Amino acid sequence: MKFTHLHVHSHYSLLDGLAKIDQLVRRAGDLGFDALALTDHGVLYGAVEFYQKATRAGINPIIGCELYVAAEGMRDRRPGIDDKRFHLTVLAENFAGYRNLIQLATKAHLEGFYYKPRVDKHLLRQHAAGLIALSGCLAGEIPKAIVAKKLERAEALIKEYQEIFGKENFFLELGAHPAIPEQKLVNETLTGLSQKTGAKIVGVNDVHYVRSEDAEAQDILLSVQTGNRVEDEDRLTMRADDFSLKSTQEMEDYFRDLPEAVANTQEIAGRARLEIPLGKILLPPFPVPEGFSAGSYLEHLARRGQLFDAFGTQRLAQHALRRRHQMPAPKQTNVVASLHDR
Ligand SMILES: [Zn+2]
Ligand SMILES: [Zn+2]
Repeated sequence: MKFTHLHVHSHYSLLDGLAKIDQLVRRAGDLGFDALALTDHGVLYGAVEFYQKATRAGINPIIGCELYVAAEGMRDRRPGIDDKRFHLTVLAENFAGYRNLIQLATKAHLEGFYYKPRVDKHLLRQHAAGLIALSGCLAGEIPKAIVAKKLERAEALIKEYQEIFGKENFFLELGAHPAIPEQKLVNETLTGLSQKTGAKIVGVNDVHYVRSEDAEAQDILLSVQTGNRVEDEDRLTMRADDFSLKSTQEMEDYFRDLPEAVANTQEIAGRARLEIPLGKILLPPFPVPEGFSAGSYLEHLARRGQLFDAFGTQRLAQHALRRRHQMPAPKQTNVVASLHDR
């Protein structure tokens, strides 16, 4: 059976993901994967690099993002309430989905930033087309409800996300982390809820580094992010389990009782066929008044600027620069003198 990693962090998950794009792509090739996702935290910094390098290596690049979902509205910034947020794994199924991902990541930064770039369900609804969502890691809204023993809430949330993304586009994410007790509970509960809601299960490993032996380096990186010493107790760490790019065999072994968790990764990998048009100049259309071509209008504006506006504009720009650098203004006499010298 084939397997595809659908939840993968690179070093663009700053101070959290260890692997560089090259390392991920090379290792995926060595392990015989023909598709791989990239789902960095809240950002798409690596999307184009990953798209190009994976494509070159003959690997189907699935561009995604692990979004932060606000507890309520993304514009709410209430201390003690809105510093809690949920993780959600989102993948682009096609170019429309990729464009929606860009919108989500951009608006999360410009409008929803509070400790992290956040979206909310209202925004997800507006930009859901072409996206496939997985319920997320243990920091996801549904897993958190399960760990809090709120099963009815978890079921209602599954239905809500199905309604946002479409029934066929929302999957229940099972993490392959045997050493984390909450993960076992979440996986079992989600498998049960899958029967009830019709949402399919899908297995992931929430990849944060390429090989198991990289775990220590990633842990040091994470300690830098949280401002802790490695020896501190009660700090955020992922040493409890293996978050590497595991082989198909390892993933199959973990999900041996749930083969559909492996098989369903192939359904998603098969559906995610993204083509990003690169190397084209994508300028917005600029309206030109009647009687002008683009070239003649540019010339017209340039000439008008030269005749009437250049000196004033230049003075304003110099004034702004001086203010920025807090430089003393040149003496009036010097300016006049230099004008006369010309
Ligand atoms: Zn997460
Ligand atoms: Zn993750």
